[in-house]
Amino acid sequence: MRKRESSGKAAIPCRKSGILDGMVSEAVHKSMQGNKRANTKPELVLRERLRAHGLTGYRLQWKVPGHPDVCWPGKKVAVFVNGCFWHRCPRCKLSTPKTNVEYWTAKFERNQQRDRQVREELESAGWTIHTVWECELKKKNIDATIAELFPVLAAELGKELKMDEPEESSEEAPGDAPEGEPEA
Ligand SMILES: [Zn+2]
Repeated sequence: MRKRESSGKAAIPCRKSGILDGMVSEAVHKSMQGNKRANTKPELVLRERLRAHGLTGYRLQWKVPGHPDVCWPGKKVAVFVNGCFWHRCPRCKLSTPKTNVEYWTAKFERNQQRDRQVREELESAGWTIHTVWECELKKKNIDATIAELFPVLAAELGKELKMDEPEESSEEAPGDAPEGEPEA
């Protein structure tokens, strides 16, 4: 996946302008298509930890509002892994891109609105929702995130939490995997 580049200076984001090739990434394109990207690196990292700690039996992209990244349908417990850029992480306090401000502002507003709506729908249907931010799963933060989240999850799921630290896994370590992960 390409990083966003600063060289793209097209004025108006539009499918016909060719901006998709110049400035925005595959993630944007997928987002425009309304598809949520599955099996992102943060999701894989989270799932690896879930398995290591005995919190198994989860389902992916379950067919309820928002298609939670990870959930336990029988217990109505869901975890959303949110990309910091698209969902406007409150911790990262990312600035809006300098060009096409109106477009981005509207786009982010829609994303956040949809997140709120999904949460409301699921909660009113009896679900418990957890949101984990991409940055919380980065190497320097993940242990703290897991330590906070997993005991709560274990209690909600009625599972025993294995607290043995997992061996440092080679294949899903954040940050240094090559591109071209296999599609699910
Ligand atoms: Zn963040």
